[in-house]
Amino acid sequence: MTPLSLLPDFDLADRNTLALIASSRFGVTITEPGMLPALFDTARTRTLPVRILGGGSNVVLAPAYDGITALVAIKGKRIVAADDGATVVEAAAGESWHDLVLWTVEQGLGGLENLALIPGTVGAAPVQNIGAYGAELADMFESLLAYDRNTGAERIFTRDDCAFAYRDSIFKHEPDRYVVLSVQLRLPGAWTPNLNFAGLSDLAAPDLTPRRVMDRVIELRTSKLPDWRVTPNAGSFFQNPIVSTDAAQTVLAEFPAAPNFPQADGRTKLSAGWLIEKAGLKGFSMGPVGMSERHALVVVNHGGATQADVSALSAHVKETVKARFGIQLHEEPIFC
Ligand SMILES: Cc1cc2nc3c(=O)[nH]c(=O)nc-3n(C[C@H](O)[C@H](O)[C@H](O)COP(=O)(O)OP(=O)(O)OC[C@H]3O[C@@H](n4cnc5c(N)ncnc54)[C@H](O)[C@@H]3O)c2cc1C
Repeated sequence: MTPLSLLPDFDLADRNTLALIASSRFGVTITEPGMLPALFDTARTRTLPVRILGGGSNVVLAPAYDGITALVAIKGKRIVAADDGATVVEAAAGESWHDLVLWTVEQGLGGLENLALIPGTVGAAPVQNIGAYGAELADMFESLLAYDRNTGAERIFTRDDCAFAYRDSIFKHEPDRYVVLSVQLRLPGAWTPNLNFAGLSDLAAPDLTPRRVMDRVIELRTSKLPDWRVTPNAGSFFQNPIVSTDAAQTVLAEFPAAPNFPQADGRTKLSAGWLIEKAGLKGFSMGPVGMSERHALVVVNHGGATQADVSALSAHVKETVKARFGIQLHEEPIFC
């Protein structure tokens, strides 16, 4: 068992992209899987809960967590297998997701380019099945290796085991059980660009490369989203609601041009950002937090905010959208 040293009064203000005031009774950085048995043994002995964090880009942290916050920083990436059909790459949980995308694209490997510039770590990517620009992690997912806190053993998860759905997976439903250690992705040998998203379709050309698509995605994201290093935020704060046909028709009867995306199960996905903007909340502020003036879906911290400030704003946005459109929004980041 690899020993570990717990750091007391661990400050997390610069370890969450919302820059909320946050600390933990203890903190520890996990640099190798062998540290996990000692971590959970120690937690059991001291009857302390353990909270797993990657880059802190999809969380709304409590001001004072009375437990151990474990930062997953296990590094390493490699090509596992390559033939004409596909290349399988593997990255450890603590690798930066965007660095992994860059690394694959630099080697001429396509498949991840639409998911460029999403902050955070590889290990967190399966947790909410990250997605952007018409692609999601599940599209390229091969398998992952996780540590099971209940059994103390490592377990391989296939795509089916993960139960991926829109911003969802089994890991969201069993939050205190698994620590993702590494992820394998299968990148196609014969690359087909995925341009089915506004802002990408004009790129269609016979000599198009993954890099060109990635560059466009980066350009679009940079122009639309506030930079969390300058204006602290956690990206999209609400999931796009998937509603019944009747509920969607009520919105479309009033606003025929409202963005809407029919789903395979007959329901319709609406744009949470559009609903928030139409409810008059783009740029709305409440104390030290607000909805971004650049993007209605993004909660920003103007400075000095806590989890309670974010909760109050979120409740107000949900109530306002519900009252205006009858549609219930759900937060995307995890309050922990
Ligand atoms: C500016 C901005 C833009 C964003 N854009 C997108 C986007 O386009 N698409 C999208 O899907 N998301 C987006 N996000 C959200 C976020 O980047 C992703 O959800 C990302 O995967 C979170 O990674 P993280 O390492 O920061 O996770 P954290 O925020 O640290 O953790 C998130 C959750 O995952 C769990 N977790 C973390 N690591 C592990 C692990 N190794 N094993 C088990 N559980 C773990 C944590 O316990 C927590 O519940 C954006 C965020 C920001 C700030």
